[in-house]
Amino acid sequence: MGGGDLEVKMGNAWHSKRAEEVLKEIGGREEGLFEDEVKERIKKFGPNRLTELKKRGILSFFLEQFKNFLIIILLFATFLALLTGDWTEGLVILIIILIAAGLGGIQNYQAEKVVRELKGMLSPYARVLREGKEKVILAEEVVPGDIILLSAGDKVPADAYLLSEVTLKVDESILTGESVPVEKEVCLLPPETPSFARRNIIFSGTSVVYGKGKGVVLATGMNTEFGKIAQTLEAIKEEKTPLQVSLDKLGKWFGILTLIFCGIILGIGIGRGENLSKMFLWAIAIAVAIVPEALPAVVTVSLSLGTKRMAKRKGLVRKLASIETLGAVNVICSDKTGTLTKGEMAVKEIFLPPGAVVEVSGVGYQPEGEFSIKGNNSPNLEVNLKSLLLVGLLCNDAFLRKEKDKWVIDGDPTEGALLVLAAKKGLKKEDLTKEYPRVDEIPFTPERKLMTTIHKKGDSFLIASKGAGEVILDKCGLGKEVSAQYLSVLQDMAKRGLRILGIAYKEGNLLSDERVEEDLTFLGFVGMMDLPRPEVKSAVAKCKKAGIKPMMITGDHILTAQAVAKEVGITDEEGICLEGEDLDRMSDAELKEKVERINVIARVSPFHKLRIVSAFQNKGYVVAMTGDGVNDAPALKKADIGVAMGITGTEVTKEVSDLIILDDNFATIVQSVEEGRNIFKNTKNFISYGLTLHLAEIFIILFALFLGLPLPLTAAQILFFNLVTDGLPPLALSLELPEPGLMTQPPRGRKESFFTGKSVGFSLFLALLITGQVSFIFLTSHAQIGETRTLVLSLITISAMFNCFNWRSERLSVFKIGFFSNWNLLLAQSLTILSLILIIYLPFFARLFEISPFPPYYWLSVIALSSTTLLLGELLKKFWPVK
Ligand code: ATP
Repeated sequence: MGGGDLEVKMGNAWHSKRAEEVLKEIGGREEGLFEDEVKERIKKFGPNRLTELKKRGILSFFLEQFKNFLIIILLFATFLALLTGDWTEGLVILIIILIAAGLGGIQNYQAEKVVRELKGMLSPYARVLREGKEKVILAEEVVPGDIILLSAGDKVPADAYLLSEVTLKVDESILTGESVPVEKEVCLLPPETPSFARRNIIFSGTSVVYGKGKGVVLATGMNTEFGKIAQTLEAIKEEKTPLQVSLDKLGKWFGILTLIFCGIILGIGIGRGENLSKMFLWAIAIAVAIVPEALPAVVTVSLSLGTKRMAKRKGLVRKLASIETLGAVNVICSDKTGTLTKGEMAVKEIFLPPGAVVEVSGVGYQPEGEFSIKGNNSPNLEVNLKSLLLVGLLCNDAFLRKEKDKWVIDGDPTEGALLVLAAKKGLKKEDLTKEYPRVDEIPFTPERKLMTTIHKKGDSFLIASKGAGEVILDKCGLGKEVSAQYLSVLQDMAKRGLRILGIAYKEGNLLSDERVEEDLTFLGFVGMMDLPRPEVKSAVAKCKKAGIKPMMITGDHILTAQAVAKEVGITDEEGICLEGEDLDRMSDAELKEKVERINVIARVSPFHKLRIVSAFQNKGYVVAMTGDGVNDAPALKKADIGVAMGITGTEVTKEVSDLIILDDNFATIVQSVEEGRNIFKNTKNFISYGLTLHLAEIFIILFALFLGLPLPLTAAQILFFNLVTDGLPPLALSLELPEPGLMTQPPRGRKESFFTGKSVGFSLFLALLITGQVSFIFLTSHAQIGETRTLVLSLITISAMFNCFNWRSERLSVFKIGFFSNWNLLLAQSLTILSLILIIYLPFFARLFEISPFPPYYWLSVIALSSTTLLLGELLKKFWPVK
């Protein structure tokens, strides 16, 4: 991989070299590499990623099944069966265990494949310069010699030597453990400077928290400092979801229960003076009956299939565990711009002091439109307008370009709108930047709500600023009266839902001036329209019906925020709308008391988001919170479901999030919550279905044991029953579509246990019912034991199929949902019944499973008896309903 080559170069102490030397040695240049050079280097150095953990083969998943306590119990049972000399039975049990483990292994293998596929969709991106052009590429395509461009929120994709920077600060805690961001700068350092003290080197895996930078890549993949550390780290194991953990616990309990029962059976047997090997058979049967060997694998598969379904609908869950939490979400705190709104801005109105209003027409980003003057005209209007457009162009990092027949914006849409506006007057950024080259800048941050660039203008300098309206007014020293007058203009524009930027400038020899952003000259306001996304209104209504509180948290002006929030239904005339500053005046206790009643919080800083999450959580809420900027990361981490934006979100927020919405759309969050609820409900239902059957098996055996009857089923028959009823039918139940009313119910409580009193009661009732059916057959049948067992096996299998219908919904009757609305289930049921018929009527299997076919007309009584499982189940649902 050329690693040795690079190491020699690392030994070169890049940090003590000048940029030209570094570029020369690494074979890079300021304008970036050519594409054919890149290809060569990818071949030479390999892709820029950490060596992948070895992909696990299917065999390892199969073998893993045998680490399971329950499977070990089953193997022990086989051993006992062989000890008692019953070779056929022993072998059949063994084969069934192998089949069950095989199926479990395949299911887990596939579940992991899905998770891996989804992880692939999460590949980080990097911005590079190639052939003089800025490009966004997959981070794994970065090669040594590439020029990378970084700004706040980016993950550094490779180790690089810094070529230029603007107030660049990087969080290196992943490498050093130190959480205070480190300032990086272009400089020369002594060769002996230790690795992480090299201020002119930026390291892969760290993240940019402030400013911008440009660097030439020195090392990629495992050759980076991060790669070296990763080599020594153990592979991080995918954590189990709370559901899987509680199932594991349940499994252990079942295991212990098995041993206790076996002990009791042997005790009773010995007490009665029964034959020991006969008692062994009972013990084996009970062990086999209790153990739900297939269910855990079904849970994993159902969760991973759920994530795949969600991803198709643009919601990407980063951990399986988050699905469970998603379903319990009862507050969604959402950004406004781009999430509730389209994020496609167009300037509609300009205010020019002292009192002119200019309306602007046009469609989309098309640089065509008219300027029509309303309000007071002033003689200098055209000159003032041009100055405003010019400053708006200079203080701007976006680009406008034509792609096929469409105009598109690269970069921040707010800035893009200014480019389109100026283009409507024939002004282009490219022409101006030549005339007024940028020499310095103070970047925009959500905390400052202001951006300033400094340009050379002949022998002096031009300072161009833009930012939130009131922040700009504050920087202009206009005097109280005038400020108040402009502030009321701003409020009037904001009330109409316009997003407003103030624009100001100054000239002079100011580079050494600390107060660059003071005493500016006010040029005016631009008001942009950013329409709500059409689907958001109904998504908000859906949230409210489902008992989920939607809240808007935005950096924008309170009146703009309020206007949009009203339009989409988040607030109304009476709703409480506050500003970040209001929160500052509240104590944590006050905020906690009030937070449920607040609908909109405007002019927030990321710090406020953290307080809001805490306030909700202290009240017991399960909070989903969106964020896109680097400083939102702590709030996303703290939220129960941190939501990152797929398109506009920074790599850092994506990394700490639980859910990434690929289309940045609020409606997708609501859809994911609905999917989360559905997956939780289905999982709960199919586990209860399984519980019902295993309880029934235990009761049936205990019933026969205490009445001194022969074993109602052989161990192999019980295992067959488990294999066919614990595998496909629950999987099909996990594919059940959202039932009507799923989103009109209040969310489940944060701590709501998987098994509620009602669900366990329902399971117990059904298990006793099935036991009743079997005892009826047992007590009334005059047939031989072999024939009776075959009847019992048929009865409980068909009963289990009726039981599937009971567990399609805990709340609704299957007669209401419709028998044909889950075709997967009908297929699973048919296959199960087919396997039953095969083992009864194919002599080979019949012999293996000790089957003695019963007269065909007995099927009628089997069906009649087993159908009570559905009918009485339905009655119970009706008279003892789940809310
Ligand atoms: P949200 O938090 O809902 O996404 P937002 O985009 O309005 O809303 P911020 O990005 O924090 O929130 O912006 C806050 C304010 O700063 C905006 O109302 C606007 O006036 C101003 N602003 C936004 N982008 C820029 C920019 N690129 N340059 C200067 N000022 C900006």
